[in-house]
Amino acid sequence: MSKFARKNIRKLTPYQPGEQPVSTADVVKLNTNENPYPPSPVVTTALRRLSTNILRTYPEPFADTFRNIAARVLKVRPDMIVTGNGSDELLSLIIRTFVQPGQTIAYPTPTYSLYPVLADLHEANVREVPFGDDFDLPPRLANTRAALFFLANPNAPSGTFIKPATIERFARRVRGLVAVDEAYVDFADDHCLRLVKRNGNIIVLRTVSKGYGLAGLRFGFAVAQADIITDLLKTKDSYNCDAVSIALATAAIKDQAYLTKTVARIRQQRAWLTGRLEKLGFRVLPSQANFVWAIRSAPSAGGIYRRLKQRGILVRYFDQPGLNTGLRITIGRPQENRRLVAALADILG
Ligand SMILES: *Cc1c(COP(=O)(O)O)cnc(C)c1O
Repeated sequence: MSKFARKNIRKLTPYQPGEQPVSTADVVKLNTNENPYPPSPVVTTALRRLSTNILRTYPEPFADTFRNIAARVLKVRPDMIVTGNGSDELLSLIIRTFVQPGQTIAYPTPTYSLYPVLADLHEANVREVPFGDDFDLPPRLANTRAALFFLANPNAPSGTFIKPATIERFARRVRGLVAVDEAYVDFADDHCLRLVKRNGNIIVLRTVSKGYGLAGLRFGFAVAQADIITDLLKTKDSYNCDAVSIALATAAIKDQAYLTKTVARIRQQRAWLTGRLEKLGFRVLPSQANFVWAIRSAPSAGGIYRRLKQRGILVRYFDQPGLNTGLRITIGRPQENRRLVAALADILG
């Protein structure tokens, strides 16, 4: 730590990403919610056809190629879309654009652990309102005078889903901007996109990292009414998405049939794994994401995590109050899920 850093940076606890082993050969990697299936063949073809010549010039500043195609797929206007270097970049862009330092950012907890880090970076206040046992929207959240609300929906690490009608009622009660982080929505039964057209304070965030199997590409997008998008376009870096990511994200979103096919497989495996974990004595919350939250007090979740790791199976364990009784397990391919269940059966005797 240098003496030059701002005070809030000195105090900051950075976001802790899940482990990324250098070699994934023979590791069952169920810890960072990546898609076990490769991206669409349309993406592979687009990648092969890329010429290094597109790297010579600057990329499209507003990623219009992507916006035009995505607008057709999502049935919105192109001026209702902004793209980012992953939806993580859009989260910080939203804070920088709509929150004054000292104003409040509110969200239910437990949720995505990046939110408080981004708030601290910006010197915004944080108001965390705990979920109840049902993981529905906590009523007290609407009483918070926040400039910005984050709702991860489906939520992480719980995997639970708040009904769009509930979110719309909430958005109509509050004055602040409501950012619905739909990173996992491709695996869910419903979504909040249709709320954007009739609510001027809702912004929906999407990514190609999870459903489209492109976490390494770093490309996300947000959808809101055009005036909100105009503000964000003003704030963002001039060339925040590179030429390769724009081309490949465009190819990915074109192939909705492939998305539907791979998502169906993961949802089928989610149901299978949920049943097996319950038989092994875990309490599993109903998941609308590509992972499950499996709760167990004895033997401890931490102990199970470590013994799985010894066997080359990585799941996510959060060593902190409120989360240390659960394991967040990404849905893998059938054989990976079977290997996990066999290892658990062995560990739990
Ligand atoms: C994975 C994830 C993101 C980040 O997505 P990127 O597009 O990869 O930056 C955002 N929010 C939640 C809740 C996530 O789990």
